[in-house]
Amino acid sequence: MDTPLRLAIFEWLNQQISVYGNVLHFNVLNSGFKINGEIIHLLGSKGIWKPKQLDYPISVVSDPNGIYDDGFITDSLISYSYEGKNPNYWTNQLLRDCMMKNIPLIYLHKITKGKYYVHLPVYIVGDKPERLKFTIAAEQGIKTQEAGIIIQDPEEKYLIRRYSTREVKQRLHQSTFRELVLDAYREHCAICNLKHRELLDAAHIIGDGEELGHPVIQNGLSLCKIHHAAFDNHIIGISPDYVVHVREDILHEIDGPMLKYGIQSMDKNKLILPKSHKHYPDKERLDKRFEGFMKAG
Ligand SMILES: [Zn+2]
Repeated sequence: MDTPLRLAIFEWLNQQISVYGNVLHFNVLNSGFKINGEIIHLLGSKGIWKPKQLDYPISVVSDPNGIYDDGFITDSLISYSYEGKNPNYWTNQLLRDCMMKNIPLIYLHKITKGKYYVHLPVYIVGDKPERLKFTIAAEQGIKTQEAGIIIQDPEEKYLIRRYSTREVKQRLHQSTFRELVLDAYREHCAICNLKHRELLDAAHIIGDGEELGHPVIQNGLSLCKIHHAAFDNHIIGISPDYVVHVREDILHEIDGPMLKYGIQSMDKNKLILPKSHKHYPDKERLDKRFEGFMKAG
């Protein structure tokens, strides 16, 4: 059994996630893990990946633009296509072994070129040969272990896995929105041009859950933390002609350099727009949002 090496990989990957977050670059996954001077790739060219150093696969990759329609079958379980049409193809057989032996795997969901949303551990919990698909469930492995919770009741374990998978789905959607919006704006703040991605957010123009509040690039703005909060609180507004407006009462305030240079001096500046015209913020949404800003003034 390859358990010690598998756990060493998991520990290393959890460290990467704690530093960089759940979205990791291909290069980190493909050449970041080394043991005894040897690199072990954590993803391959195909969906189910077994490095030669391990007895069983280490990861499964979902690519929404790939040839398989991998995605979430419900809110709480991941549907995963077999490799090819032969249920007994060796990689499918190995994944089935992972199910029988309860072997933990890494789930990688491709967000954009070279970037993957990473979650571990996941388990294969179902096999549907008639549909050529496996079912995958996520688990909050570390948190559960840290809390010392031992789940023995299969029903409870099943519910916890479904719940964890739903959380993965939500975080995956948030991360996807963030990556696509930041990428569209070449990773800078649309108001002040700040370029540190760790200080940038993907702000919604129309809030999630409201009418027109879809997680699309045209409903997003790449904003630094301070301008995101100022935008959310109607201290800063953006008119449909892409001009930045600072609320009137704020313009007359006297305070330190953050207010003066960070906020007041942005008034009447042009918004810094995405590289591609098709990703420009939607004017209808900006208009609707700007009404709220005017009312707040
Ligand atoms: Zn900014």
